[in-house]
Amino acid sequence: MATDLKSLNYEELTEYVLGLGEPKFRAKQLYEWMHVKRVDSLEAMTNLPKSFKEKLSEDGIYTTLTPAAVLVSKIDGTRKYLWRLSDGNVIESVFMRYHHGNSVCISSQVGCRMGCKFCASTLDGLARNMTPSEMLEQIYGIEREVGEKISNVVVMGCGEPMDNFDNLLKFIELLTDEHGMHMSQRNLTVSTCGIVPRILQLAKKHLQITLAISLHASSNEQRKELMPIAETFSIDKLLDACRTYFEETGRRITFEYCVVAGGNDTLEDATRLSNLIQDMNCHVNLIPVNPIEERTFKQPTMDAIERFKNRLEKNGINVTIRREMGRDINGACGQLRKSYIAEENS
Ligand code: SAH
Repeated sequence: MATDLKSLNYEELTEYVLGLGEPKFRAKQLYEWMHVKRVDSLEAMTNLPKSFKEKLSEDGIYTTLTPAAVLVSKIDGTRKYLWRLSDGNVIESVFMRYHHGNSVCISSQVGCRMGCKFCASTLDGLARNMTPSEMLEQIYGIEREVGEKISNVVVMGCGEPMDNFDNLLKFIELLTDEHGMHMSQRNLTVSTCGIVPRILQLAKKHLQITLAISLHASSNEQRKELMPIAETFSIDKLLDACRTYFEETGRRITFEYCVVAGGNDTLEDATRLSNLIQDMNCHVNLIPVNPIEERTFKQPTMDAIERFKNRLEKNGINVTIRREMGRDINGACGQLRKSYIAEENS
């Protein structure tokens, strides 16, 4: 199989380059072109000899993503990208401008097999895992297209990152490598539906990234109705894993709570949720559910969400309501990709 150059860390790349019979300093140059200058082709690497580039293109793959479509919000400049992968699959990412800097939301898998009831990414199941280079390229590609620096990354697009664990770790290593793009670990958030053994494994890595947990429910029974993963790992086990994560890393956990009208939005829910996490160093992010065509979930009124928030605050919980970005080019996780594929096939 051809070597995916942009998925190799510096040591692996050095070994690879030596294996091609080239001197070691070529690995350093190549690594810089890929992860510091972040150019879109081997041809653009002007100080590499033609013979070396020929070897690379014969033996290796230089992963770049081609935009299949870019949708730009007229309201706030949010940009949604649909990328065509080399095998024809289509995935999506989002670019958002905040006062603290530019943020990109990336996908980690083509599709998803977690089956959360309100989520469009999972409707057709999992096609495949994404490679570290494909995860990186969503960031590099957007940066090239927009021409602005990206300071924050959230792994909250399509897919369950903990279900693609090794590639996720490699991606984090490459993104935060001081000889590469060198993003601060603190500027990276990984969101998970709660695969407990992986959370514990990640805790042992002692990274400074932010872990976001898609909680979405105030009891185990309620969670099972929304998220099949709750059948495997109870809410208590999940929260225990979060406590361990905090003990190991000192990083405050973010809980995402997707509020659904008539589902999990009552004041009793708010109280139950407060009781579950009262002892934890955490933050709750309330997300008004984004209705998808295939399901009947509805957003509560803003008043109801405010009341929910106030109850949490009264109980001493840190809480924010997620601001909706790019309302005019909307589409919840995976919806854009799904409508694009449907149109292509019609
Ligand atoms: N698989 C990971 C990351 C991807 S989803 C996870 O489960 O966390 C990113 C976030 O968007 C999750 O909290 C997910 O539950 C939420 N989400 C998915 N579909 C949504 C929808 N229709 N409305 C609101 N939030 C949604």
